[in-house]
Amino acid sequence: MQEEKGTISIHTENIFPVIKKFLYSDNEIFLRELVSNAVDASQKIKRLASLGQYSGEVGDLTIDVKLDETAKTITISDHGIGMTAEEIKKYINQIAFSGATEFMEKFKEANDANEIIGRFGLGFYSAFMVADQVEINSLSYQEGAEPAHWTCDGSTTYEINEGTRTTRGTDVILHINEESAEFLNKSRIQEILNKYAKFLPVPIRFGTKTESEPDGEDADGKPKYKTVEKDNIINITNPAWTKAPSELTDQDYLDFYHELYPHSMDEPLFWIHLNVDYPFNLTGILYFPKIKNELEIQRNKIKLYSRQVFITDEVKDIVPEFLMLLQGVIDSPDIPLNVSRSFLQADSNVKKINNYITKKVADKLQEIFKADRKGFEEKWNDIGLFIKYGMLTDEKFAEKANDFCLLKDVDAAYYTMKEFYEKVKDIQVDKDGNIVYLYTNDQSQQDSFISGAKAKGYDVLVLDGPLDVHFAGYLEQKGGEKVQLKRVDSDVIEKLIPKDEQLTLNLSEEESKKASEIFDKAISRNDMKVEVDALSESDLPVSVTLDEFMRRMKDMAKTGGG
Ligand code: ADP
Ligand code: MG
Repeated sequence: MQEEKGTISIHTENIFPVIKKFLYSDNEIFLRELVSNAVDASQKIKRLASLGQYSGEVGDLTIDVKLDETAKTITISDHGIGMTAEEIKKYINQIAFSGATEFMEKFKEANDANEIIGRFGLGFYSAFMVADQVEINSLSYQEGAEPAHWTCDGSTTYEINEGTRTTRGTDVILHINEESAEFLNKSRIQEILNKYAKFLPVPIRFGTKTESEPDGEDADGKPKYKTVEKDNIINITNPAWTKAPSELTDQDYLDFYHELYPHSMDEPLFWIHLNVDYPFNLTGILYFPKIKNELEIQRNKIKLYSRQVFITDEVKDIVPEFLMLLQGVIDSPDIPLNVSRSFLQADSNVKKINNYITKKVADKLQEIFKADRKGFEEKWNDIGLFIKYGMLTDEKFAEKANDFCLLKDVDAAYYTMKEFYEKVKDIQVDKDGNIVYLYTNDQSQQDSFISGAKAKGYDVLVLDGPLDVHFAGYLEQKGGEKVQLKRVDSDVIEKLIPKDEQLTLNLSEEESKKASEIFDKAISRNDMKVEVDALSESDLPVSVTLDEFMRRMKDMAKTGGG
């Protein structure tokens, strides 16, 4: 038999049932994809004009999304670069079908297909998730271009003929299939556009809306209103994070916060503007919300964008765990969006992004702490939990946070870890030389013990937060040498001896010399040393030690060495 070599081909005819089945839960992304394509085409014409490669009028680039409930169509129209018939064949047919093959290949191997879904950039092709027929009407910007019309019912065959478009740009018309009737609903489309297109860089219009406007005064001098029909523009084309921090006032940041979270009543405490272009691209603004207790903690508040297109608010793999408590946006074209989750975790860019964000957050906190210690202390109740959480879960963050993490005592005075160590290290010492940090986790219950400790001149920390049990352990490890934490009502207070008192001998030099001589004589061994070096109340007023040198000599003789 003759040897034969070949390639196994994947048949794209079968792709639609597969896609429909597996993408069903997330099929709303078709609108994100088609609107992004319209934005891309619009940005391209602007760019060509600015490069002098297009001499016509750029004109109004507003993109229209139109819904026709009776015809059961959704149309996305742009004034972008358009496509010739040749380009449709090249970009739509080829890309679509090669994209489909790629999908099949990835799908074949992936055991986490459900996770791939929202992230898999199906682009134009995703239209077929909701439409049983898709039409393109396009006129290219190129001089002398003929309008082209393309139609496809989701099989691998298509038709292309003369188009009807008279102005530059593209209409994509979706004939919505029966299972996707939900998308023939105005408020559903509005919702999807709000979600994905709210910050796209080209204006997007979805019909009109009625608004009431002041209209002079009536005969009695009362203000009059009239209802006006206005363009329903979905998006803000230049959201705060795309601007330079120097262009923005505090009010701009607060306004943008409310754009992002229209339902939030609280103001953020402060924010961090992220801006990096090497070794990866990333911009964004992170807001610190007030976090008072664990119950209030809401995760998944950070929204991830790629070139101003909303991707997801599940940022688990991109943002360090403890920063999930923050709010805001991250925009990066470098975060791979079309791969599975396990891939994302392993991606080196994602790791770098992670480290970068952690560093930025730590730096910002440090900066605020240095610039305005009092303000920082006032915010401590709201940010302390977050910072402690970060320190307990992220070593890199902890390294930096050791400098600005605050310890609060029962008199509501704040100390850095270093300051507190310095304050008590000579006073709150036990007989083994451990530095004892006294703390209370219930001020009213332990009140008499607190007063007792204070009367002795000791300082009592308040550690009553939800993470403080763990944080006490952290302080013992990293809070300074020989630090031990003891609750104020444990029996330790009576046993603390200030360092200077520990060193005070109750015998004069002369007396202790004499005492040593007496003991020496009594023991009468020249390999042993007697020291009188203690307080009168101490357990060990006299110590008898074997001289280190003599002991070693003895040991050597015993083992017969030398
Ligand atoms: P991608 O956007 O990732 O390139 P798509 O499948 O979304 O992939 O689109 C394929 C190509 O079709 C685009 O790169 C573009 O060249 C072309 N295209 C799609 N939509 C439009 C449009 N509205 N105007 C002009 N070209 C378009
Ligand atoms: Mg696209």
